[in-house]
Amino acid sequence: MTQEPWQWDEPTWRGHVDRVRAGRSLTPQQWPDGAKVAVAISFDSDHETIPLRDGETSPGKLAQGEYGSRVAAPKIVRMLAQYDVPASFYMPAVSALLHPDEVESYVDGGHEVAVHGWIHERNMLLSRADELDLTGRALDTLEKVAGVRPTGIRTPSWDFSDNTLDIIRELGFAYDSSLMGDDDPYELLADGQPTGVVEIPVEWIRDDAPYFMMERYGGLRPYMPPRSALQIWLDEFEAAREEGGLFQLTLHPHIIGHRSRLVVLRALLERIRAHDDVWFATHAQVADLLRPATTATTDTTPGAPA
Ligand SMILES: [Zn+2]
Repeated sequence: MTQEPWQWDEPTWRGHVDRVRAGRSLTPQQWPDGAKVAVAISFDSDHETIPLRDGETSPGKLAQGEYGSRVAAPKIVRMLAQYDVPASFYMPAVSALLHPDEVESYVDGGHEVAVHGWIHERNMLLSRADELDLTGRALDTLEKVAGVRPTGIRTPSWDFSDNTLDIIRELGFAYDSSLMGDDDPYELLADGQPTGVVEIPVEWIRDDAPYFMMERYGGLRPYMPPRSALQIWLDEFEAAREEGGLFQLTLHPHIIGHRSRLVVLRALLERIRAHDDVWFATHAQVADLLRPATTATTDTTPGAPA
């Protein structure tokens, strides 16, 4: 019998909360090269997979995704090279198969390519078997297309099911970047037990989609000019720098890659580059740096040294 939430006993509601939880903070005393702050910029190269995932096959919808690969991605890769900034590109396998040259341009640019589902599926709707199958195939496909086996995963739409952490461990990922339990990296706990999996947390605040997306037949419209997002992200960066933490950002080529919005990305990179105490890294490099500490001890006391 299915119980309503108000009928749950304490072990039940506690069990749901404890299933996936933040463990120790992994922020180091100091970032590499004596840097005060780490900066990890990412792009989710979803392109056509957003409409495809919903079974929307109209050329009109697909053209918006096409823009992301055809126009935006090359501009972004050139801009990153100009500022000498490494980035992480999360790519659904179907997107990688549609655009193998784009994947190659990421690898050639020294960037990370990592898992972002098969076709941007909604994990919450899948059985464990289907989620495992799609994630495993996505991992193998990206390895084949990119020539490097990804070490990290970002679940599509940050849609993290009851089975996702199990699957992440089963497939041997070093890190995840889908959860929001902190501003800075932490170790994931599964039912209270340390997993050794590094979480590089995300937030909608540090994402371009909520500020710029529009629902054609709904009432929702972007409510601020692109340069206002720049101020939010700079404030996030400055606070991360003051706290000695991580500034992590999630962008989408098909969203940020338009002319009036690339202005924002350029200004952001310029302002961050103006500091000489910043460690730019891919998410995989952040996880690599922090992961050894997760296996060195099983102390899960909040605030225990990493
Ligand atoms: Zn996505």
